[in-house]
Amino acid sequence: MIALETLQETLAALGAPRYRATQVYQALTRELVTSFAAISTLPAELRRDLAAQLEPVLLDAVEVRVSPRGDTRKTLFRARDGEPVEAVLMVYRERATVCVSTQVGCAVRCAFCASGAAGLRRDLSAEEMVDQVLHFARLLRDDDRRVTNVVFMGMGEPFLNYDETLRACRLLNDPAGIGLAARAISVSTAGVVPAIARYAAEPLQLNLAVSLHAATDELRDRLVPLNRRYPLTKLMAACAAYVAKTRRKLFFEWVVLPGVNDGDDQVAALGKLLRKPLYHLNLIAYNETGGEFASPTAGELAAFRAKIERARIACTVRRSPGGEIDAACGQLALRRVSPGGAPVASAAGADQ
Ligand code: SAH
Repeated sequence: MIALETLQETLAALGAPRYRATQVYQALTRELVTSFAAISTLPAELRRDLAAQLEPVLLDAVEVRVSPRGDTRKTLFRARDGEPVEAVLMVYRERATVCVSTQVGCAVRCAFCASGAAGLRRDLSAEEMVDQVLHFARLLRDDDRRVTNVVFMGMGEPFLNYDETLRACRLLNDPAGIGLAARAISVSTAGVVPAIARYAAEPLQLNLAVSLHAATDELRDRLVPLNRRYPLTKLMAACAAYVAKTRRKLFFEWVVLPGVNDGDDQVAALGKLLRKPLYHLNLIAYNETGGEFASPTAGELAAFRAKIERARIACTVRRSPGGEIDAACGQLALRRVSPGGAPVASAAGADQ
C-alpha cells in the first residue's frame, strides 16, 4: 500500500503529470495490483522509476492456516525488517471480515493474552495495516467476493499506535481508493482512556470496542494491567462520554475465563456498569495459549451467558476457533461462524 500523498510527491519529483498519482493509487487500491510493472497504462520508464523508489507491497505472506471448515484463514506475514505480522480473514455468508494487527507484540501484557508475552517490538505503519486487508481482498476477488468489514483486533494495542491506526482507517475509508464504509470498521482497545475521547471526536463514524474482561478494579488490575493506570471509574466515564458524543453503539469484550471472571460477583458488578442504552457485551470463549487459564466448556459458556442475560445485559456470544488453527501462537482472537453455518456473531461491531 502506498498513500496517495506519497505517490504525488514521488511522481512530482520524477516530473510526471499529476494524474499519474491517482492512476497508480487506484491501480493499487482497486485493481489490487502488487507491482508497478502490472500497471499497463503507465509508461515503461515510469514503472521502472517508481519501482526503484517505492514498494507497493510491504508484507510477504509466509504461512497460512485454514480452519477445517475453510471459513477462517490466518496468515503470518513478514515485514521488510523480518518482523512477524498476523492477520485473520473470517468469511461469513454475507460478509468477509479481516482482523488486523496494529503492532508487532504488545506493551499492555494482559494476563491471558499471548501477544504481550514478549512485549512490544514495534508499531506497524498504516500502510502495513492496510496491506493485511489488501492481501485478503486479492484472495476474495478470486471468488468474486470482497472484504466487507475490518476489525483492529489482531496483535497490538491500536490506541498506543493511535495516529497510524487512524491513518489506516482513513486509507481504508477513502472513497477515491478502497472505499470501505466507516461503519464497517471497528477498533478495539484495552482501555487507553485519553484516546477514547480523541476517537470520539474523530469525524469518521468508526466503531469502538472496549476489552473489559472484569467488572471490579481488583480483578481487572490483574487481567488488564492498564487498569492500574486507567481504573474502571475513569474508563466507564470515558465510555459514557463517547456514547453521549457519538450516539453510537459501544461494544465491550469479555474473554470468558472459567473460575476467574465468570462468578456471580462479576455479573452483579457488570450489571451496574453495562445496563445502559447503546452498551453491548460480546462474550468471547477464551482460546488457550499455554498459560494458567483454561478455555470454557460449552456448558460453562452457556451458564455464564444465562447469568448475563438474567442480569439484563445486552450480549452476544462470539466464538473463537483458536484451537483449530491458532494453536501454535494463539496471539489473535478469532471469531467465526456457528457450526450450523449461520453467523453466531462477527468480531465486535462488524455487523452492526
Ligand atoms: N489490544 C486491543 C486489541 C487486540 S486484542 C484490545 O485489547 O482490545 C482483541 C481481543 O482479543 C481483546 O478483547 C483480547 O482480550 C482478546 N484476546 C486476546 N487473547 C485472547 C485469547 N487467547 N482468547 C480469546 N480472546 C483473546
